[in-house]
Amino acid sequence: MLRVGGLTPLSSTDWPGQLSAVVFCQGCPWRCGYCHNPGLIPAQAASEIAWDEVMALLRRRQGLLDAVVFSGGEPTLQAALPDAMRDVRALGFKIGLHTGGMYAKRLAEVLPLVDWVGLDVKAPFAGYAGITGVEGSGTRALEGLEQVLASGVDHEVRTTVHPELLHDDALAALARDLAARGVKRYVVQAFRPQGCEDAALRASGTRTRALQDTSLAFAGLFEDFSVRG
Ligand code: SF4
Repeated sequence: MLRVGGLTPLSSTDWPGQLSAVVFCQGCPWRCGYCHNPGLIPAQAASEIAWDEVMALLRRRQGLLDAVVFSGGEPTLQAALPDAMRDVRALGFKIGLHTGGMYAKRLAEVLPLVDWVGLDVKAPFAGYAGITGVEGSGTRALEGLEQVLASGVDHEVRTTVHPELLHDDALAALARDLAARGVKRYVVQAFRPQGCEDAALRASGTRTRALQDTSLAFAGLFEDFSVRG
């Protein structure tokens, strides 16, 4: 059964344009300092929600919601994800997926079940470990990006920017690289201090205004570009 660490019954932001329930999958192999859901990082947690409970809530929401988004943590960590998606699709919901793209085999398995992907790209691929704390994470993330682009599944690529972890020149290099690889829809989102356990990163604050200025420089690279947060 899918290990679920949290459930949001109604969201209009996790899949823009869709009214969704959000299933927060337990477990993530990376250790991003800015993570705003650190309680979802351990593979197991005491406060998990039984999959039967999730399905019971979704049955009550049939006709009221468009979609269910599998978020995390990292949903593709779990072998139970494809069956969970089939369960939800059988209720008539569209399926969204938030992922860092690091489990290629499982991503390949679930992409045919998914209507939309929100793919997190954290940094230039050569500098990924500076964010995730895991060597080799950039190689895996790049493979995930290539899978999503090749799949034809509707998607957005997004990058969370903390001013101490991703400098302007790195962000600009990343944007150029993503455009060259064929990314059409790109969202830059400001770090949110809520939930982050690193006091120094929280204190560094956000810089939405500066992001908007910086981002104007490469907005023309994409068919659809926005700053969020
Ligand atoms: S990949 Fe996402 S869930 Fe995992 S540690 Fe990083 S921000 Fe948190």
